[in-house]
Amino acid sequence: MKVAKFGGTSVADAGQILKILEIVKADPNRRIIVVSAPGKRNKTDTKVTDLLIACAEAMLKHGAAEQELAAIVARFAEIQKELGAPEKITREIEADLRQRLAGDHKHHGKFMDCMKAAGEDNCAKLVAAAFQQKGLNAHYVSPREAGLLLSSEFGNAQVLEKSYAKLAELRNRPGVTIFPGFFGYTEADEVATFPRGGSDITGAILAAAVKADVYENFTDVDSVYACDPRIVPEAPAITLLTYREMRELAYAGFGVFHDEAIVPAVTANVPICIKNTNRPSAPGTQIMPERPYAAGGVVGVASADGFSTIFVSKYLMNREVGFGRKLLQILEDEKISYEHAPSGIDNTSVIVRSKELTVAKEAHVVTRIKAELSPDDVEVEHGLALLMMVGEGMRYTVGLAAKATHALADAGVNIEMLNQGASEISIMFGVKEADRKKAVRALFHAFFAQSAHGGQEAS
Ligand code: ASP
Repeated sequence: MKVAKFGGTSVADAGQILKILEIVKADPNRRIIVVSAPGKRNKTDTKVTDLLIACAEAMLKHGAAEQELAAIVARFAEIQKELGAPEKITREIEADLRQRLAGDHKHHGKFMDCMKAAGEDNCAKLVAAAFQQKGLNAHYVSPREAGLLLSSEFGNAQVLEKSYAKLAELRNRPGVTIFPGFFGYTEADEVATFPRGGSDITGAILAAAVKADVYENFTDVDSVYACDPRIVPEAPAITLLTYREMRELAYAGFGVFHDEAIVPAVTANVPICIKNTNRPSAPGTQIMPERPYAAGGVVGVASADGFSTIFVSKYLMNREVGFGRKLLQILEDEKISYEHAPSGIDNTSVIVRSKELTVAKEAHVVTRIKAELSPDDVEVEHGLALLMMVGEGMRYTVGLAAKATHALADAGVNIEMLNQGASEISIMFGVKEADRKKAVRALFHAFFAQSAHGGQEAS
């Protein structure tokens, strides 16, 4: 049995949805289909999820959102018409959106999630109806009915362990199940969504629950590439990755697959395959528990903007018991999750995502650090990018960091931070955001460009 998830561009219009129908029909094992909300049809287009967010925001601000609502209904209506699906579906979608909009606004997070979930939910209903009309035994299944229970962290929810037993019953459903991605329900029966891009997570949870033979993740590229092809167009395709490599690459900006979607697949040992809806015959990228690898292999270089550093220095910090805990406690009190904490003898830096450090929180954190830790210096710097060089074979190789730092130095990139994680399958560099692309190109040339065998396992 296969679980197949189709991303936003795969359901962006009727033509794309018909490609999904062919893909489903081509393999009777594809029995659970998870869909995103319609995404961009071209570069300037807007994703339905973003339209829904704009609609919810207009409602909160002005108490009305007719124009925003009309744009969403028009988007679904176009797909419904082109698919030749019954017109009543569009009316039902409009009624559903109006009902959500009229719901309780008091808790912004809950209201927002209820609105955001409408993209996937209505898309799944529309896809199921269109497939039925075209003769496929397909049925929409609601995450509520299926038992997908989430924590009440609205906009950032996590699956509750107890969901898995009930979700396993999806295996016994006849025909093809069409399941909306991105959201589930809290124990208080409220809609909650995963982080953005979270339909990947839904797919992985279902694949784990039904013990699928493979979790296919259909997107709009043939495979995962060794570097972001927008930065390095000649970056080679990666055919095989381990879970750990994918997790590290996805963490630092490999947008093809959500990093949190790895976990359920790993736990249940379900292999993942990234495939292209527009070219399903391409082999794609397999993500497995293990793979054969050669020493020296850097498999990919990922990069992401949007990090900030809180730098704290204090003479004899190394002798002060509890300094690190107190510092991290201040962040915890502010509900800021930290990403990394590289430290020296008399100083430590805490790296956080810039979006978590609002101006008000930053001022508060700095004031508390000064008052409670009496440091010699506290500085906050924004505009940090992280580069992650990843590969299972790296731990057996001497000189990789030297080669990378040389390449960065030759490109004139200043390394703000260097961290060889405990995992030993990655080395992380912090550079200025303005240097990020230059740095990725430099590492690509150092580790992949001269590769004799197409990039995978280049050393
Ligand atoms: N539609 C949601 C988003 O745009 C979730 C997803 O597509 O995976 O973030």
